[in-house]
Amino acid sequence: MIVIPCPWCGPRDESEFTYGGDASRPMPSLKNGNDQAAWHGFVHQRENPKGPHVEYWYHGGGCERWLRVERDTITHQVRWASDAAAKTEPEQ
Ligand SMILES: [Zn+2]
Repeated sequence: MIVIPCPWCGPRDESEFTYGGDASRPMPSLKNGNDQAAWHGFVHQRENPKGPHVEYWYHGGGCERWLRVERDTITHQVRWASDAAAKTEPEQ
């Protein structure tokens, strides 16, 4: 079981969330048209990290906000969660 500490709702079970992908690297820009090679690389050519990893999660069963979450891919322990727009790790 993964418990995600939503900054607005408090600690909640992962069943309230939807995984949204890798947040450790930027998405390709949409400003210059549809760069298929860039999107292919972003979606399909990913790392499979062992240990701490920053991910996007959507809290659909709560505040309906996107979060950035650091989760250990081995233990599934969540170290922190913040607003996805913040783009930085929250102060501990
Ligand atoms: Zn929430």
